[in-house]
Amino acid sequence: MRRLRNVKIVATLGPASSDYTTIRALFEAGADVFRLNMSHGTHAEQQARYDIIRQIEADTGRPVAVLADLQGPKLRVGTFSAGAADLEEGDLFRFDLDPTEGDGHRVCLPHPEIFAALEPGARLLVNDGKIRMRVERCGPDFADCTVTTGGTISNRKGVNVPDVLLPLAALSDKDRKDLEFACGLGVDWLALSFVQRPEDVLEARDLARGRAAILSKIEKPAAEKAFDAILKVSDGIMVARGDLGVELPVEAVPPIQKRLVRKCRAAAKPVIVATQMLESMIESPMPTRAEVSDVATAIYEGADAIMLSAESAAGRYPVEAVTTMSAVAQSVESDPTYREIIESSRQVSRQTVADGIVAAAREIAESTDISAICCYTQSGKTVALVGRERPRVPIVALSPITQTLRKLCLTWGVHAVRCEEVERFKMAVVNAARAARDYGFADETNQIVVIAGVPFNVQGTTNILRVAPCDERLIFRTDPE
Ligand code: PGA
Ligand code: MN
Repeated sequence: MRRLRNVKIVATLGPASSDYTTIRALFEAGADVFRLNMSHGTHAEQQARYDIIRQIEADTGRPVAVLADLQGPKLRVGTFSAGAADLEEGDLFRFDLDPTEGDGHRVCLPHPEIFAALEPGARLLVNDGKIRMRVERCGPDFADCTVTTGGTISNRKGVNVPDVLLPLAALSDKDRKDLEFACGLGVDWLALSFVQRPEDVLEARDLARGRAAILSKIEKPAAEKAFDAILKVSDGIMVARGDLGVELPVEAVPPIQKRLVRKCRAAAKPVIVATQMLESMIESPMPTRAEVSDVATAIYEGADAIMLSAESAAGRYPVEAVTTMSAVAQSVESDPTYREIIESSRQVSRQTVADGIVAAAREIAESTDISAICCYTQSGKTVALVGRERPRVPIVALSPITQTLRKLCLTWGVHAVRCEEVERFKMAVVNAARAARDYGFADETNQIVVIAGVPFNVQGTTNILRVAPCDERLIFRTDPE
């Protein structure tokens, strides 16, 4: 099985997508990465979803990435006895530290540090800013608020407090436990919420000890300001538009999205554009035209991946949402304007041998009749460089390392294929040609470009570029040892 598009799709799993049949259907419809949102559900539920994903991997023979999204210092309300409460403009509503279930008059906000920092007049924004309140009175364990914009407040909805500085640690106790649990499961990516400083990323990296790659979610004004330093110490980025658009004016988000996507591509690190991409599909089988346009814009900008949150986790049409994203991607990527945009925004980097080899691979592939760029990789780094080039021909990543193949599921255009460890370059070429043929990228009459580092199985040695026939008899006849 192969995808007919380059941009990747991240689907969040949740109550609407927790059984084998649904997750398999999401995968078949086009989900390349599954996101486990540690803000919701129990470890037992996440474990069950994780096991199903690995089962699907085994059943289909295709690598799948799992991204565990740590809640971070996100503020959330507790639960309601009726699951939710309707609030109207002018209502009085209290937040407190009482863990009993809430109602239309009060709910628990289990964060003493908020009450310590709040002041009368500060805004409290609930559920992505849909419900707005103003603090009237507050003490060390309560805040009485007036509802200024009403709506339905429900279990564990997020709270943003943009007007006061909250002295919050990067990782809560819950995050540390979740991180250890997720690494124990074997997830490929850890997403860090509400990163503010590069030190926050380094702290998580220390705890992960190489067991998972680290993706920083940009959703605080402070993170946007320190972006270059955060990108440097991260393996990937998420433009987390939900909280970003609450903490900053919504109109500030599109320019930030454009800038971040461009910088990530230049750094050859995957970037996910996330949140509200097909929001109306939570309830409707059809997206709005504006949502389709938003998904298309992210793809035109050159994002590595686009993401579904509640659409796939808790919506009525999870599979249709993935199908829609995939269809939009195929439409955009076959538009000549897309190629023009992608090519005019390519930033040429020629600092290392690997930079030169990937640039040459793309030029050769595009100016002659080449069917695929096949890349042998240990860490996945060279493949990420090929991805940065955004070539017109498919990228086939070959590695014996499962973790590398899975991690690459987030990178633009990469089709990851497991291969045996090889000793001799000739066998690498044979394997590459076989993979290109097996997945329908080439037939026996075609040629491919093979990139590798010799000696094999040593990281960071990319030093060979070979144009090879896909016909095995020709490889054996023409190839040097
Ligand atoms: P969340 O992050 O869904 O965990 O809040 C994404 C966002 O804020 O956009
Ligand atoms: Mn968020």
